[in-house]
Amino acid sequence: MENIESKKYDVVIIGGGVVGAALLYVLVRHTNISRIVLLEKYPKLAQVNSSSKNNSQTLHFGDIETNYSLPKAKAVKEATEMILRYIKEVGDPGGSIICGPAGKMVLGVGEKEVRLLTERYEIFKNLFPKLEKLGRDQIAKLEPKVVRGRNPLEKILALYSGEACTVDFGKLAESFVENAKRIGGERVQVFLNSKAGEIRKTENSYFIRAGMNFFQGTVVVVAAGNHSLLLAKSMGYGKEYSVLPTQGNFYYTPNVLGGKVYTVQVEKLPFAAVHGDPDLNVPEKTRFGPTARVIPWLEARNYRTTLDFMKSFGWNFNSIITVFKIMSDPVIFKFILRNFFFRWPLIGKRLYLKQIRKIIPSIKLKDVKLAKGIGGIRAQVIDTEKKQLLLGEVKIIGENIIFNMTPSPGATSSLKSAFDDARKVIEFFRGQYVFS
Ligand SMILES: Cc1cc2nc3c(=O)[nH]c(=O)nc-3n(C[C@H](O)[C@H](O)[C@H](O)COP(=O)(O)OP(=O)(O)OC[C@H]3O[C@@H](n4cnc5c(N)ncnc54)[C@H](O)[C@@H]3O)c2cc1C
Repeated sequence: MENIESKKYDVVIIGGGVVGAALLYVLVRHTNISRIVLLEKYPKLAQVNSSSKNNSQTLHFGDIETNYSLPKAKAVKEATEMILRYIKEVGDPGGSIICGPAGKMVLGVGEKEVRLLTERYEIFKNLFPKLEKLGRDQIAKLEPKVVRGRNPLEKILALYSGEACTVDFGKLAESFVENAKRIGGERVQVFLNSKAGEIRKTENSYFIRAGMNFFQGTVVVVAAGNHSLLLAKSMGYGKEYSVLPTQGNFYYTPNVLGGKVYTVQVEKLPFAAVHGDPDLNVPEKTRFGPTARVIPWLEARNYRTTLDFMKSFGWNFNSIITVFKIMSDPVIFKFILRNFFFRWPLIGKRLYLKQIRKIIPSIKLKDVKLAKGIGGIRAQVIDTEKKQLLLGEVKIIGENIIFNMTPSPGATSSLKSAFDDARKVIEFFRGQYVFS
């Protein structure tokens, strides 16, 4: 491959979702690297998990996500502030973000959850001074349907914040690339329809084949979402990791909520519990979800990626034992089983109705419709050496190469991840370029 005529770059970014796009922007805006290229396999940017069809469109602040510890919430808050600063600097990219007006809350139902939220409030209130504790009457004023039809004896409490943003991460990705091109001019190139196949390392650089084109890069950053581990493994990296893809489906109901309403997280699970959100694409509906059904492919509605999953999984003793160990936890097993049945005809919707009724007690079966063609796949990373399911994003750092694996809240963390990668990229160049 080295002898074939190739285009030469300092940095090659593989993947044009929000993570790769954010990195392109940060490298152009904050470094003096001369030649950067982004390769995207589809004809348009951000068609996979970053597409607004495929995720919950939430800019996570860390205040109402009960699955986050205090340090995780701090990190997520920092990441969110970076996105908000970017939007302030460049302006709202094509109506991609709506902040406010109805805010967001996490709803505790029953004695145990109410106690948990009360304790959590005390721990988190300093980091989030705008967080408020709301009783039944205050909840009813903000979200009347959360209270209407609910058993008056059932205890409820909410942690509420007016700071809530719904984001089209696909448009945000496009905005990162547009601004990178505007600022960077000839320093930047973007190739669509360019699927990076083989990546080969030579003494001082990498050669990447993408369709009929060949690219040479001193440094490579893989931001291929659910496919990053596959590319890592093809180069001998990430042997200690495997992947458990989970399909997140959504259900539409008529507009029953003003803002975002989350429920309390089930401990041990890396997936957000059911929540109701506005949908930027369908303003007249409320979207509930996502579910988390374990499936053997890597891209939603693209069954040809089954083979890619097979290769990413790494069929060895450790990966198989780890999956068994994870599944044998009663909480996880019950969760996986329940999610499996959500897609069954007749019973699936009835089962999910129970989840939605935790938020909207008066909702009727006829009002709930599966959101067809909506929902992406979170490829949860498994550490097969520690034999555990990892929560959140994972980076593999190799010799002049980085691989990003980005389950939720990967879109919220995109700019933070880009700054981390950009600093590492500068280190790879050993003084040739600087970060500013
Ligand atoms: C159901 C669900 C709900 C979610 N909700 C939220 C949320 O509310 N908030 C949040 O912050 N996060 C959320 N997430 C997570 C978020 O969607 C992802 O973390 C984020 O979109 C990841 O961005 P990415 O750029 O890494 O991946 P992607 O958006 O998947 O982009 C990867 C890109 O790489 C390209 N690619 C892959 N292989 C190659 C190759 N060989 N050559 C060239 N290009 C390639 C793909 O075509 C794609 O464009 C959710 C995810 C799911 C599934």
